[in-house]
Order: sequence, then C-alpha cells, then structure tokens
Amino acid sequence: MMNLVDAQELAALRSLSANIGSNPHLTQAAGGNTSLKIGDTLWIKASGTWLRDAIAEDIMVPVAMSPLLRAVERRDPTADIPQAFAIEALNPRKLRPSIETTVHALMPQRVVLHVHCVDTISLAVQADCEAEIARRLGEIRWAFVPYRRPGLPLAQGIAERLRPGVDVLILGNHGLVVAAETVAEAELLLNRVTMQLARPARPVSAPDIGALRELAGDSGYVVPADIEAHAVATDPESCRMAEAGSLYPDHVIFLGQGSVAAAPGENVARTIERRGAAPMAILFPGLGVLMRGDANASAHAMQRCLADVTARVDVTTQLNYLTAAENDELINWDAEQYRQRLNTRG
Ligand SMILES: [Zn+2]
Repeated sequence: MMNLVDAQELAALRSLSANIGSNPHLTQAAGGNTSLKIGDTLWIKASGTWLRDAIAEDIMVPVAMSPLLRAVERRDPTADIPQAFAIEALNPRKLRPSIETTVHALMPQRVVLHVHCVDTISLAVQADCEAEIARRLGEIRWAFVPYRRPGLPLAQGIAERLRPGVDVLILGNHGLVVAAETVAEAELLLNRVTMQLARPARPVSAPDIGALRELAGDSGYVVPADIEAHAVATDPESCRMAEAGSLYPDHVIFLGQGSVAAAPGENVARTIERRGAAPMAILFPGLGVLMRGDANASAHAMQRCLADVTARVDVTTQLNYLTAAENDELINWDAEQYRQRLNTRG
C-alpha cells in the first residue's frame, strides 16, 4: 500500500504531467514521459499513452526498479523490454511501461521529467549543441548524451555520461531530462531550464490554404490540424532543413524518414507518382503542408513539431541528421510498432 504522502506526490506528478502534455512546445502526441520512485517501485507513464491524459486516465505503470537496473548493468537485452519488469498485481490495465523507462530508472532522483521540448531539440540537432547549451545553462549541473536509439542503447549512453549531482540531461537529436527529489522542485527546474534554452522562432508567413486545397484535388490529402505546421514549408530555411533528413526519433516513427517536398509545379498526385508512394505529409514550398487523409493525431502533432523545431534552429550552423542505419532501426523497432498501434486505437 502507498502511504498518503506518496499518494499525494503521485497525484501532483499526474497533474504536472497533464500540464506538460498540454503544451505542444514541451511534448507532442505520446512523446515525453514522467516518473516517480516510491521505494523500489518506479511509477512511469505507460507506452503509447499521452501525458495530457494523465489526470483523466490511469496512465502510470509500476515497475520493479532493482531488477531493471541490474539488467541494464549486465547489458541484458531484457532491459529493452520494460514490460518484463512491470508489477502486474498493480497493473490491472496491463499497460506497458514507457520504452524510455530505463532513462528514468538510471537517474537517482525520485522525480524524473523527460520532454521533447522544441527549444531543446532545436539546439540538440545542431553540431555545435554542447557549446550552445553550455553558454545558456550556466550554473546548472547538466550532461550531454550523444544520440542513441531510445531504450537500452540510450540508457547505456546515459550511464556513460552521468556524474554525481547531474540533474539535467540534454539528449542529442532527442530532447531534455530533468530530475529532482520532489515534483515541485522538478517543475521549477524544468521551467528554469526551458526558459534558459528558449529562443525565438523565425517569423512565419501565412499558408495559402486555397492553393493547397487545389493541389490536393481529389487525393484525400488534408490541411494539418494546427496552422503552425505550415511554417516548415512557408519558410525556405525550414524547408531546406526538413528535406535534408530526419532530425529526431519521433519524427521517423510517426511521419517516416525525412520529409518530402513537391517539385515546382507538382500537385499531390504528381508528387506521389514521382515518389512511387504516398508520404504522410507533403511540403509545398512557399505555400504550406498537406497531410495524408489517414494521418492520425500523432502524425499531425509531429508535423507541427517539425515546424516549431526548424523555425528555432540557427540557419548558419551545421545540423546532425539521423543516419540511414538509425532511421532503419527506428522503423523496424517492435516496441515502437506497439506504441503506434496503441495510438491508432486511441
Ligand atoms: Zn523521448
């Protein structure tokens, strides 16, 4: 049984999680996750669930921490299957713990928040990321973790970089982790770090919705759920960055590898014909974005995320893109296919 103080802390975490999940600059779709350690039990967001639902739904799963940490240490492949460590007696909905459970278990602090903050990602894709973060974070005790596939590879990357006292991690081509002993302290640290990493987006020009509808014709393609999503196509620099490849894992998982832009004069039908496949989204330079008719809420959220991230990237700097092998391991990853199926159902 959980005592009253722990129960209140878990309730506070759920409330903070719902706030974080409602801010598209901090999390998109089922991305991001939060956790609380109570004794040897790690309560963590379930895979495929959305943080914004943290109050309305029971999305926290209990995991036995010591056996999971021992598996990480031994590099046991089971550590990549966090559901093997779920405490089933306390998990009536049979939810799977987040695929990023090991990230949370490795941090010694009681409360861990992992977000896909667009300001952080915009820095974490730049080749000069570490110097830029150092300039902004000043006194904060942080560590940089180079890109690894989420799950066991990322956990091992973190274990290599973690030093005593570190409570902020910048994950290359991925996002941000903050950790503290209480939910209130974690929230303060998250606010402080995200404020220090915040940078202005380049100004956007409006999409041409009429022209986009004409380009869609009877293809079934639709305008994105959020008007902000168009900026990746209306801004030439953002469009160039997007076309050059995949910048972070959730993009690949929900939208596929990289981005497709229409050639001059091409409509949706001609773009599909040239590519031999119907991409989840098509960028029409200077006009805006169209999404495939069957794109789910996660795909729409990730398409907007791309606009928010690229609008903040320094246009003069070199970017790190995911390699072909890194793209492939995300597309063929069983745990991710589960997360996507859960998303489609929801
Ligand atoms: Zn993540």
